Amino acid sequence: MGEELAHRCRARASLLCACKLAEARQGKNVQSQYDVVILGGGCSGLSLAVRLAELGPRCPSTLIVEQRTAYTNDRTWCFWDDGATRHLPLIQHRWPTMTVQNNVGQTTINCGDTPYQLIPAEAFYQDAVDRLTVCPSTTLQLGVQLTREPTKAGRHWQIETTAGSCLTTTVIDTRPSGPPTQGAATLWQSFSGQEVECDEPVFDPATINLMDFSTADPSRILFTYVLPLSTHRALIEVTQFGPEPLTGPALAKDLAIAISRRVHGSSYTTLRAEDGILPMGLQTVRKPAEPNYIKAGLTAGAARPCTGYAFQRIQRWADSCAKSLAEGRGAIGHPADPLLLRAMDHLFLSVLRAHPEKAPDIFLSLFANTQSDRMIRFLSGRGRLTDYCNVIAALPILPFLQQVPKALWWQESWR
Ligand SMILES: Cc1cc2nc3c(=O)[nH]c(=O)nc-3n(C[C@H](O)[C@H](O)[C@H](O)COP(=O)(O)OP(=O)(O)OC[C@H]3O[C@@H](n4cnc5c(N)ncnc54)[C@H](O)[C@@H]3O)c2cc1C
Repeated sequence: MGEELAHRCRARASLLCACKLAEARQGKNVQSQYDVVILGGGCSGLSLAVRLAELGPRCPSTLIVEQRTAYTNDRTWCFWDDGATRHLPLIQHRWPTMTVQNNVGQTTINCGDTPYQLIPAEAFYQDAVDRLTVCPSTTLQLGVQLTREPTKAGRHWQIETTAGSCLTTTVIDTRPSGPPTQGAATLWQSFSGQEVECDEPVFDPATINLMDFSTADPSRILFTYVLPLSTHRALIEVTQFGPEPLTGPALAKDLAIAISRRVHGSSYTTLRAEDGILPMGLQTVRKPAEPNYIKAGLTAGAARPCTGYAFQRIQRWADSCAKSLAEGRGAIGHPADPLLLRAMDHLFLSVLRAHPEKAPDIFLSLFANTQSDRMIRFLSGRGRLTDYCNVIAALPILPFLQQVPKALWWQESWR
């Protein structure tokens, strides 16, 4: 699929270059001009571009600059159903039950009303490319890099890329702000996983294992996450929350142990692998440098600090940003979370950072003692005040009270 997508996007990019060449031969100014340039065609960039394409004749002329030469099935997006119907056809799995466990207990959470659901990245990318290809106002360029940072030229931004230069009035920059570094986030969520196909039916396809701390080492917050895709197939991941970001190879041994425990002796084939590093509580969320230069995506406020989940927040942002552009109010970034939520996330992450050995009990207690609908609304960033109160009441009070004075030190990230 990746090759086919890449071919279609390259074809479009070549067509663009051919037109510019023809114009140059006729002595015309070859500088293209767009209303909007989106830097980075990943989840945020494509989500916004698709919303703009849906405006039909009102769609601003939009260029999406993406450095990858092809899209691959590089990740799976999971989130709890919030009633939005936009991605229904792309959803490949839904689970009504999940478990959280440590080495002293287990809790089962019924989320049948808001199932946990999965969209494979390849389905998302394919859908977006299809929609952008038929829209006359959007151009997706793959395999294109910026040759220098955008510069201001009067009321325009000058964009220089390996495919040429162009002018735009609005830049939406979804590129990551830089590589993950220790100190840039309260914690980093580093994970590594493999989708495996077993010879024996060893998985329960109705239940995901959201967090399994049963092999926990008290010095690290490490758990296994299992998404059963059938009785024979599952995505098995190990995740570490810690101050230091870890790449996939650093988690390889933990992953091998987790897979061997989960396949119960069955022989298996690895179908694909995925890994990532997500910020949990960025110390400085990037603010827009200019009203018409907006930063968005994972390192600009898309990731929910206490979970690293970003997919639904990106979708909500893409809706609002496209609406704002369509109404002539300009582009907007990710909205700040309510103060109470930011304070709770910050305190929660501070406790985890200070007491990694308490994490298995904290998570088990949280899931066992909070009503599932309240917990899911809270985790999905749609919580109400009563949900916050329910979550607070489910947590062990002492480590949180002890951490309050230290957490107040980091007020910077509350603003
Ligand atoms: C493996 C994995 C699994 C995840 N699973 C979940 C999940 O289950 N649920 C959830 O809510 N969140 C999940 N996330 C977190 C989050 O939803 C994703 O990281 C999401 O892709 C973030 O979107 P983004 O647009 O910020 O970044 P990306 O999707 O990474 O897009 C950024 C784009 O910018 C491009 N780019 C970078 N530099 C340049 C440059 N100089 N020029 C041009 N292009 C450039 C990149 O190639 C990339 O395509 C997951 C993340 C990963 C990595």
